[in-house]
Amino acid sequence: MLEPPASAVLVEAFANTVDVEKASDEIATPAGLAAWLTGRGLLDTPGGIPPDVHESYLTLRAGIREELGSHVGDLPDPELLAAADQVLAGHPVLVTSRGSLTPAAGLPTERRPLAALAIAWSQLVTTGDAARLKRCAEHTCGWAFWDISKNRSRRWCSMKVCGNRNKSRSYASRQRQAT
Ligand SMILES: [Zn+2]
Repeated sequence: MLEPPASAVLVEAFANTVDVEKASDEIATPAGLAAWLTGRGLLDTPGGIPPDVHESYLTLRAGIREELGSHVGDLPDPELLAAADQVLAGHPVLVTSRGSLTPAAGLPTERRPLAALAIAWSQLVTTGDAARLKRCAEHTCGWAFWDISKNRSRRWCSMKVCGNRNKSRSYASRQRQAT
């Protein structure tokens, strides 16, 4: 079993704060976001998160989810990617003399986790592990998952549920075309 690295666990969890199927979003409000960040150990004090900072998290998440979708062949929305890049550009990361990355010292507390997410993401991209992190190709699901298959060929979070849903739909459309 190919265990995901800590950086993948974090990015996956962040991407899955929204549940498309249940139409729920853990970080829909600043308070929800603060609770999520505190639960992950990314924020010490669950204080108020300003609306613009909250917006930055949602923008980054949307961009990451687009990128994860591209790993199963979905065409990403360039506007969402560009907006996420803008958020990242506003959250500088420093390299220490030992080669590790750290959020820039001047960042306000509630913005530091954005830099932490940027660090996790860059680690995944650098190691090539990012390609294993995907958004389910079944769009009514959209769950982010870690692909443990040897050739990184999985497209659905669960073959049993989403893979079969997709198959039966293409079967039905083939049947329709045949008649
Ligand atoms: Zn799925």
